[in-house]
Amino acid sequence: MFKSHRYIWITSILGLFAVVVLLLVFRHLAFQGLIDHEAKANITLSRVFSNTLWPKYSMFVQRASRIPRGELPNHYTVRQLRDDIRKQMARSRVSKVKIYNLDGLTVFSSDPGQVGEDKSDNAGFVGAKNGAPVSGITFRDRFDAFEGEIVDRNLVSSYIPIRASEDAPVEAVFEVYSDVTDLVTGLQRLQWEIAGWVVGSLSLLYALVFLIVHRAERTIQRQEKARLKNEAKIHYQAYYDSLTDLPNRTSFSERLQEAIKRARRAERMLAVLYIDIDEFKLVNDSFGHSTGDQVLRIVAKRLTSCVRESDMLFRMGGDEFTVIIEGLEFVGSPGGLANRIIDAMAEPMVVNGHDFIVTASIGIAVFPKDDATVEKLVKDADTAMYLAKEAGRNQYQYYSPSMKEQAAERLAFETGLKQALRNNEFLLYYQPRVTTDDEDIVAVEALLRWEHPQWGLVRPNVFIPLLERMGLINDVGKWVLRGACRQVKLWHEDGMSGLRVSVNISPRQFRTGLLVETVKDALSESGLDPVHLELELTEGVLIDNIDETVKIMRELKQLGVSISIDDFGTGYSSLKYLKVLPIDFLKIDRTFVMDLANNEKDAAIIKTISALAHSLKIRLVAEGVEQPQQVEFLKTQDCHEFQGFLFSRPVPPQDIPVIVAQRRVRRAG
Ligand code: C2E
Ligand code: MG
Ligand code: MG
Repeated sequence: MFKSHRYIWITSILGLFAVVVLLLVFRHLAFQGLIDHEAKANITLSRVFSNTLWPKYSMFVQRASRIPRGELPNHYTVRQLRDDIRKQMARSRVSKVKIYNLDGLTVFSSDPGQVGEDKSDNAGFVGAKNGAPVSGITFRDRFDAFEGEIVDRNLVSSYIPIRASEDAPVEAVFEVYSDVTDLVTGLQRLQWEIAGWVVGSLSLLYALVFLIVHRAERTIQRQEKARLKNEAKIHYQAYYDSLTDLPNRTSFSERLQEAIKRARRAERMLAVLYIDIDEFKLVNDSFGHSTGDQVLRIVAKRLTSCVRESDMLFRMGGDEFTVIIEGLEFVGSPGGLANRIIDAMAEPMVVNGHDFIVTASIGIAVFPKDDATVEKLVKDADTAMYLAKEAGRNQYQYYSPSMKEQAAERLAFETGLKQALRNNEFLLYYQPRVTTDDEDIVAVEALLRWEHPQWGLVRPNVFIPLLERMGLINDVGKWVLRGACRQVKLWHEDGMSGLRVSVNISPRQFRTGLLVETVKDALSESGLDPVHLELELTEGVLIDNIDETVKIMRELKQLGVSISIDDFGTGYSSLKYLKVLPIDFLKIDRTFVMDLANNEKDAAIIKTISALAHSLKIRLVAEGVEQPQQVEFLKTQDCHEFQGFLFSRPVPPQDIPVIVAQRRVRRAG
């Protein structure tokens, strides 16, 4: 990531460096200016000296080398020269003056101790002797000046050639020291002030920039974090299932594609397991989606614990899961995992206080034995899974090519079903329901049949679940209701007054929100009195979203129709709801009736259901009665009505008047 702090630091340091350099340049230029200025003044001074005093002393100075050195400082002319110079230099910044002859001999110095010294190799002297003035600045902590000893001074010293006129030869060298301590101090103060200001304003500027950049960086970091989080979220949503946290269908396709490539390269096998929870719809329909979701979560956890780390588990949506097993040792090994899964599912689970036993059907397809592309492998595994279901659920099946034909048949079946309503292939059969006491026909149950041109009469258990899955149950259900009402009305008109009809309502149909309207329409269209219509609901609809269920049931009751609970005892019956719901009949499921003679438990169950129904004032109907002994037992249990092959199988509508007539004749006889 771009680290602006680092760049700020670097530019700050560079900036500071630039400021120091600028200050040094400024100092250098300022000092140079000072020196130039003082040098000019010194040159002017020396000119004044040349014009005034030099003619008087020139001879003495030029010949001074001849005078013994020891005598020179106290020489009369030197003393005179000192007085003259002192007078001339009074009230100027000059603190010291020295005069050298061309031999480099110090003929005069305002510091008498220096008179007589040899300066012939002094660079300043040499320069001036050659005609060019030389100036420089020095600092002296101790200095002998006109006024005596002075300390800590900044001095500009200038070596200036002395000539009689502008273009005359150099006759001597004049050295002037001017005291620039005050100027230098002022200059230094100014320099520090400037440095202070520059550093201060730069610091302020940097602090500001730093602050702005810091904030900007924090914002960028925040945005970056949010972006990454968002990306992760989008990725999660695209590739994972939020309910179970398992990778989803998209992940599955991608991973299977990669796995197939690897298997192909390594010439190894892989397997796809397609897992579908059996009758999960029942859990959802009966207990609501939140319970269904929790069941799925538990299922996902159990599946996770079954698979090895190298296996990949996915949720494809709904109650469908898949596993990819790579590096398969032999074709049969996925069966081991399938068995483990089936065993793991068998453990009972408790969700929201309800006990569940979940089972799963599993289809297995193997690469490259079965197929070699993602789509085909998945289809194979799916086909095998469907056949595992058809073979009785709670088991696994390996895919085999013959399954393809079965799958094609199923597809043809589904296509046929789609067209059945339009092609008028549906029929209604009716099965009489009679009183237990004297076998009076009190009602008929309308039972749907599909008359297929090739397959003949198809039973509803086969196609009703398909109609539900294909979303056709509402249209077909509507057709059944209208047909049944119209038929019974016709029978009433034919003298069979009082005959009731019961119509099966699927849970999906119940939940559409259109049921009340459909029932109303069927009644008004046929002119049937609502007391002659009974709706059969399964236990499943009772529990899911109880408030909504109660509302719909009350509306139905207000229409005047009766309500019965079909197949009672097989679903997730929650007895407490029976109290609050407006139920007229309980239809004991035929599985309890069928085995009555051999199974004491069934008898006990019927006894319990009977006691319950009586205490709640709900009428009891037995289904699937095939033997007279069953009727005898039902009589002892005060079961009001029964329905079954013993009295009559479901028959086409034209047979009902015949059965009724026969019954009348029997009674009359
Ligand atoms: P159901 O409502 O419990 O209907 C009774 C089933 O038991 C009928 O099967 C009937 O033929 C069968 N049955 C009656 N007496 C006996 C007997 O003594 N022994 C035996 N073994 N069976 C007997 P069917 O007609 O095959 O219907 C099966 C199920 O399909 C029905 O069970 C019902 O749940 C559903 N169904 C039928 N028609 C419709 C419909 O129009 N709409 C909806 N949603 N479901 C329907
Ligand atoms: Mg029924
Ligand atoms: Mg039933």
